[in-house]
Amino acid sequence: MANPRLVDSWPRHLEVVTADAAIWCASCAERRGWDKDGAVDTEGNEVEWVFGGMEGNTPTHCEGCGTFLPVPLTRAGEAYVTEALNEFLEDGYGIRKILIEWAEEFYYLPAAEKFLKAVKA
Ligand SMILES: [Zn+2]
Repeated sequence: MANPRLVDSWPRHLEVVTADAAIWCASCAERRGWDKDGAVDTEGNEVEWVFGGMEGNTPTHCEGCGTFLPVPLTRAGEAYVTEALNEFLEDGYGIRKILIEWAEEFYYLPAAEKFLKAVKA
């Protein structure tokens, strides 16, 4: 199975917005008026709409609503997710619903396959 991180894995529909030193989904950004030309965040910095090319050192969730945003992971991010999934299986640590979202998105990680088998068994 191809590692989606090595191909163009940015989902075509995905756009995220960077503002206030955080990442937001498009709906939350629109609600804040950040979809207008020249929009600035509360710190006076230009709001940026990002359509690809971003990677996360941890899985990305919207700052406003918490929605999981399927931004590809760096190697550090893959290690982070692997550890989080393993910790859940070993100690029950973590939020099951969120970890399932992570495992389904980053299914190519060996830990994700093991995790999904275990929680869906
Ligand atoms: Zn949101």
